[in-house]
Amino acid sequence: MRFPLSMTAGMAGYIARNKFRPKPEWQKTVLSQPDAANPFHIVYTHTDAPRQPHPMINKRFPLVLMLEPLHTCNLTCTGCGRIREYESTITQKLSLQQCLNAVDECGTPIVSICGGEPMLYPEIGPLAAKLIERNKTIYLCTNGMFIVKRLKEFKPADKFFFNVHLDGMEKNHDIAVEREGVFREAIEGVKAAKQAGFRVCTNTTVYKETDMNELEEMFEYLAQFDVDGHTISPAYGYSAVNDREIFMTRDDIHEKFKDIDRLAAKFPLFSTPTYLEFLQGKRDYPCTAWGNPTYNVKGWKGPCYLITDGHYQTFEELMTKTQWENYGAGNDPRCDHCMVHCGFEPSAALGINAKLGDTFKLMTWAFR
Ligand code: SF4
Repeated sequence: MRFPLSMTAGMAGYIARNKFRPKPEWQKTVLSQPDAANPFHIVYTHTDAPRQPHPMINKRFPLVLMLEPLHTCNLTCTGCGRIREYESTITQKLSLQQCLNAVDECGTPIVSICGGEPMLYPEIGPLAAKLIERNKTIYLCTNGMFIVKRLKEFKPADKFFFNVHLDGMEKNHDIAVEREGVFREAIEGVKAAKQAGFRVCTNTTVYKETDMNELEEMFEYLAQFDVDGHTISPAYGYSAVNDREIFMTRDDIHEKFKDIDRLAAKFPLFSTPTYLEFLQGKRDYPCTAWGNPTYNVKGWKGPCYLITDGHYQTFEELMTKTQWENYGAGNDPRCDHCMVHCGFEPSAALGINAKLGDTFKLMTWAFR
């Protein structure tokens, strides 16, 4: 089975509850008002007509909280937007209580702890323990360099994963993170965590130059440590990093991932079958920004993990004040190449661009 049964069952219940009883306030279209101070402001003119083709699909609710307790990091990875966008607040961090308040406020069953490097957060152990108490699925996204040193601060749990960033084998991973020795330390972390009984998965960003054969070699190499699964997502340009040539357009992504089914059959990929179809261009990628809310030292980041048009003080404000219809490919040029993947790609679960048989496909994938 790909995931622990309690995780799959808990998630299915959460999704069903939110589909049967969606919160009405979160489903409304927010219309723009003309802004006299900004003559270039785009006024959204769609009508408030019912937008969902079926009452069970296309509901807005959050699924994965991207919790960023701090943006400090010991590395300066080539593709990282955070160390650029949050340069002015890079030394600030959330308190443990602020983290827990955010988790309780949005109520998602999955919390992805990211940053920055969350293993530099002084209270990372207590934070993980409190989330386990709350029965959350936790992905602790890390470069892996501090796992050996801080492992004793954690206890293994069914729904707690160290999610270690690895963009290739030793030479190319160290180039991507701009420091020699990182791959070896990350692998030591993976080994130590597995030996201590923790669940471990890896997280790989695929750049324009990435050789997919090398990723196959890396997954084969990781199999000897009994790594539980792999997430994989393309590097596409967005506002904080768009000035670089390593990022892919949507067409580049489709070409790069055309043979991903072969890897998915051979290795335990955590990316859903629907997400893999988006990557291959077999169906259109929809914006599900509300599915992955992001909370950090500035508040609730809107509209999404990648684009910042503002920060809100409450989760309710993020959900009810964001003009969701203004985003997504074709609506905002910044979204044109987006294929955001935040640990668990939510569009399949949320039923966005749903096709007949999706639920069956998702269930067989989860139980395989
Ligand atoms: S499509 Fe645009 S708004 Fe939606 S998640 Fe991607 S970058 Fe964010």
